[in-house]
Amino acid sequence: MKYLFGPVPSRRLGISLGIDLVPYKTCSLDCIYCECGETTRKTVIRRAYVPFDQVIKEIKIFLKSKPYLDYITFSGSGEPTLNSDIGKIVRFLKKNYPQYKIAVLTNGTLLYRRAVRKDLMNADLVIPSFDAASKKIFQKINRPHPGITLEKMILGLQKFKQEFKGKIWVEVFVAKSINDSQAEINKIKKVLDKINPERIQFNTLDRPGTIPTLKPVSETELKKIIIQIPNAEVIAKCPDKSKFYGETSKNIDEVILRLISRRPVTIQDLHIILNIRITEINKHIRVLKQQNKIIEKNGKRGTFFSLK
Ligand code: SF4
Repeated sequence: MKYLFGPVPSRRLGISLGIDLVPYKTCSLDCIYCECGETTRKTVIRRAYVPFDQVIKEIKIFLKSKPYLDYITFSGSGEPTLNSDIGKIVRFLKKNYPQYKIAVLTNGTLLYRRAVRKDLMNADLVIPSFDAASKKIFQKINRPHPGITLEKMILGLQKFKQEFKGKIWVEVFVAKSINDSQAEINKIKKVLDKINPERIQFNTLDRPGTIPTLKPVSETELKKIIIQIPNAEVIAKCPDKSKFYGETSKNIDEVILRLISRRPVTIQDLHIILNIRITEINKHIRVLKQQNKIIEKNGKRGTFFSLK
């Protein structure tokens, strides 16, 4: 599978099958906290970045066995709405697999465009990001493409909320000494009050970001923030679901490399995702380290492994 990944245990979405519609780090932003690394192709151009037929072929193969899934989620290592086929793929899923719910994780930068909003209309849940409500901090935390402005971001969110019939959960990523001041939180609250999404989810660094010195805020700080905002919550830790189906591939090394090429993971994450004993995963990690294929970095939840 080249465009599908997982299913992975998502902190918000339970067991989620990922669909990645853009090549690695094709994004309209270059967020300093991005767990996928620096944006290598910063763009606002929408096009068919991956072959539509191949994505559909993989979906058909994967869903043939009717796996248990909480969501099919458009996400991955870049901005999914940059792919101009996303609407077609969402419609294909809804028509042929109506039993599955569809989520789209987006940075929200392109929602000011009518065509993008239209493409997401058939999703069940859209999770846009909104990390800053002042221009300076927006530039600092999200490092946008020059074609993206804070005004466009806010306009897009407002319009989308008016038109979309599904649920909207806005994610706010908070980084220490970047956007955690009371003044900035107040501004974010003011904007989100007007948009009035179903949920506002506060998150902080869980895996290493693109800037090594970037620090998370504490859980206590996050809790202090959410008290001030209705519908706000802190994103909970990963679920450990026994109903998880697990990867079926025989080549565990290859599967581990594929998973960590998308985001850094801990041994515990791999244990949950792959449904394989920790001792067994340790064995594979040792081999991949000896082969110089992976590197380790310390993060809040322990040691994270990523591609060398
Ligand atoms: S966090 Fe999301 S929006 Fe930000 S750079 Fe990474 S992929 Fe793009």
